[in-house]
Parts: sequence; structure tokens; C-alpha cells
Amino acid sequence: MGFIELEKITKEYFMGDQKILAVNQASFSINQGELVVILGPSGAGKSTILNLLGGMDTATSGQLFVDGQDITALKESQLTDYRASEVGFVFQFYNLIPALTVYENIALIKEATSKALEPEGVLKSVGLWERRHLFPTQISGGEQQRTAIARALCKNPKLLLCDEPTGALDSKTGIVILTLLQNMSREKGHTVVIVTHNAALAEMADKVIQIKNGRVADITLNTAPRNVS
Ligand code: ADP
Ligand code: ADP
Repeated sequence: MGFIELEKITKEYFMGDQKILAVNQASFSINQGELVVILGPSGAGKSTILNLLGGMDTATSGQLFVDGQDITALKESQLTDYRASEVGFVFQFYNLIPALTVYENIALIKEATSKALEPEGVLKSVGLWERRHLFPTQISGGEQQRTAIARALCKNPKLLLCDEPTGALDSKTGIVILTLLQNMSREKGHTVVIVTHNAALAEMADKVIQIKNGRVADITLNTAPRNVS
């Protein structure tokens, strides 16, 4: 069994009496330590899949295993624990707290979770230790995203989920961020799932899962992912 197993996962939304089939019988597996890109056009169902993986939403039907645990069987309070302790989230627009420094944005996690890593080691691993006293507005977009990645890693999560992590960055900075995520999977063994509509990110992934109209349209294994570093 893979580290993540989706088995015929379906997610329906209801808008009034209209049913929207956001994810339709999706099945795939992800191994521990893999860097996976979920690729597809806008509206394909990618974010819904990421939300299901992160326990932010619940499936209509199907099963979803993460590290042997069926997430679809969890009660709301267990899902809250799962989200808080097992999953790190990285967003397109970083979601940093503007009134806190780089260091403080990360130290916040340490206060919230007992198993959190020390901010120093995590900030050094993303190359931001020297810039720890600056505020988000004082650093570049790429550095803000590295701060957000450090914050996610600070939880020492089983799973790192990234929604369009390079969407607000120029392509060169995007490659820096992807390389960092690649190192986190290769060197630190983190399982990283990236959702994007940008096909350029796919060449750096170990596995590419293409989503179209809520369905898994294609799964490609990259035997030689592009390595920029
Ligand atoms: P993507 O991330 O690939 O752009 P989404 O997962 O956001 O796609 O959306 C898939 C489909 O589900 C779209 O038709 C979208 O409008 C719909 N959808 C997503 N979230 C909701 C929601 N909370 N309520 C109703 N419809 C939704
Ligand atoms: P990127 O290539 O990530 O977009 P920029 O070109 O925006 O980076 O910034 C280049 C360098 O200048 C970075 O090291 C960044 O931290 C620094 N920098 C940018 N804006 C500021 C600022 N307002 N205060 C301090 N340093 C800044």
C-alpha cells in the first residue's frame, strides 16, 4: 500500500439544487518521500483533491488512506488533530502574518504543536536564518514563500501540501522554490504534493497526476526528474 491511497474518491458539491461533481471516482497512490505534481486546468478538481488530502473537506464517497489511516473514517475532532499535526500547507500567497518577523511566523508553530521542530534548524534548511529579523514586507516573494515552507516544515508533517506554490512568483524564483521542495522530498523524506495548472512544474516531479473534469486522466512516472540544483 502506498503512503497515500485514493480509492474511487468522489466529491459532490450542491449549489441550490444543482449538483457539481468536483472529483469523480479518482484513484491514485503516492509513495513516501515522493514529489508529486497534480496538474490540470482551472476547475478540474485539483484544489478539492488537495483539501481532501489535508482533511479540510470530506469526500462524498470512496476511501482515502494516509499512512495506513482511513481519513474518510475520521470524526471531526480527529480530522482537526490530523490537520494540525500531520499536514503542512503552503499557499500561493504565502499567508504569513505581516506583523510578525520571519522568525516569529515560524516560532508560532512551535508554541502550538509539541512535536514542532526548532525554528533555527528549519530556517537554516530554507536559507533564511540570516533574514529572520525581517518582516514579510521586507523580503522578496521568493523569500516569503520560503518562510511559508519553513513554517509548514516546522510541524514536521507527514505530508506537505502546496497549492500553486509558485503562482505568484517569476519563473526563475519558481524554480528555486521547486528545487527547495525537491530537496525536502529527496533529502528529508517528506512527501510533497503540489497542485498547479503550470505544466512547467511537472518536469521536476517524480510523479505527475493529470486531472480533467474531476477524473484522473493520466499518471506519469518521471524516471529522471529535472534537477536544477
Ligand atoms: P481546480 O483546483 O482544479 O481549479 P476546484 O477543485 O477548485 O478545481 O473545483 C472543481 C469544481 O468544483 C469546479 O467546478 C468548482 O467550481 C467546484 N467547487 C469547488 N469548490 C466548491 C464549493 N465549495 N462549492 C461548490 N462548488 C465548488
Ligand atoms: P525575487 O527574485 O525573489 O523576486 P527580489 O528581486 O524581489 O527577489 O529581491 C532581491 C533581494 O532583495 C532579496 O534578497 C530580497 O530579500 C531583497 N529585498 C527586496 N525587497 C526588500 C525590502 N523591501 N527590504 C529588504 N530587502 C529587500
